[in-house]
Amino acid sequence: MPQLRRSSRLVSKSEDLDSEKPPAKKRKLSQTKEPAVDDDAAGSRQASEGLRKQRASKPKKEADVQTFLPRVNSPWKVGAHVSSAGGVENTVINAAMIGANAFALFLKSQRKWTSPPLSEHSIKSFKERMIEHKYTADVILPHGSYLINLGNPDADKREKSYECFIDDLKRCELLGLKYYNFHPGSTVGNATKEESISLIAQCLNRAHRETKYVVTVLENMAGAGNIIGGDFAHLKSIIDGVEDKTRVGVCLDTCHSFAAGYDLRSENAWDELLKQFDETVGLSYLCGMHLNDSKTDLGSKRDRHESIGLGYLGIGAFRNLMNDPRVQNIPLILETPTFEQPIDTWGKEIAMLQKLSSAVSEIPENNSALESIIGDAQTEDQLVAMHKNVVEHCQVSKNKTAKRKSGKKSRNEGTNEDEGEDE
Ligand SMILES: [Zn+2]
Ligand SMILES: [Zn+2]
Repeated sequence: MPQLRRSSRLVSKSEDLDSEKPPAKKRKLSQTKEPAVDDDAAGSRQASEGLRKQRASKPKKEADVQTFLPRVNSPWKVGAHVSSAGGVENTVINAAMIGANAFALFLKSQRKWTSPPLSEHSIKSFKERMIEHKYTADVILPHGSYLINLGNPDADKREKSYECFIDDLKRCELLGLKYYNFHPGSTVGNATKEESISLIAQCLNRAHRETKYVVTVLENMAGAGNIIGGDFAHLKSIIDGVEDKTRVGVCLDTCHSFAAGYDLRSENAWDELLKQFDETVGLSYLCGMHLNDSKTDLGSKRDRHESIGLGYLGIGAFRNLMNDPRVQNIPLILETPTFEQPIDTWGKEIAMLQKLSSAVSEIPENNSALESIIGDAQTEDQLVAMHKNVVEHCQVSKNKTAKRKSGKKSRNEGTNEDEGEDE
């Protein structure tokens, strides 16, 4: 593999790397416009705030395509979990804006049991924008509500979860979406893992009968306490209990895998992880991935997402992934901190990840597109230094904004990515 295999080869502007100064910042951070959505148009959890606001806010204006970051041509479909603020139809624009080749979204407020149905207007507009911005259903990975726990041994509570779950699945089908990613569930300390696993499989069978085609995609988890899904064997057991195997899949999260004790930092470790997944679950079930670096070390059981290249996983883990044909043509979704500046953070992370892929960098039009986003960063060290600078800048500017806003508002928006557990 060429120049980016290891981060040693420095290009002519290598001096920038050795200093604490930002590496040749060709593009000002303010150069790209903020998305024309509500001010919380960033970060997956913040999306619910937006959904809540949507009824009170004006409809979103059409975005200026000229300001969108270029999208590279690549079989590795990298994107992010974009904001649904103002309606699900806005996710398509929020994805196109950051040069995403894939995206994730919430279909409704992920912290509420019930939400108003999708409007005819939202559905129509979502579908039109999917065509306009050239996205197909196989690169979209909707994320389920966090409240759902299909493994809850309490029948009433499980039924409440199931209703929320089935409502999400029906929303997917109304939008023409193929996949639906969700957290398997938890024993809540009142059942064995085997019992919860069986309950989850039963719910999936029932849901598959009640819907037409959407594929229910189990996410692997960081493996804390009563949570199901930290061990690949849990996923395998759920799938074993599902009658229609064409309706079930898996989404692997890099941060969760690492936290659960599956290493993926070296080329061998990455290979071993996929081998283990293949032997335990089967690679044919892999429908998508979440790309997150980790704020905590291997086996920590903690779910703390970090910006790409800046955490315990490091950029090498993502180089392995971005050169592996086994993860081509599935949605690869960033859930990293944005500090409410998705174009600067995710836009650069997407370009950075594509730059790691040797096959992608060899396409001339991709090179100019990537250069317009990440400047002349060439080596892995340069990419990480550039990104660290971007993230720090965004963090500082978000803190300043938060201070200006009322204490209440900044508390609502400002804590989830930095302090709490991620999901
Ligand atoms: Zn997570
Ligand atoms: Zn998740």
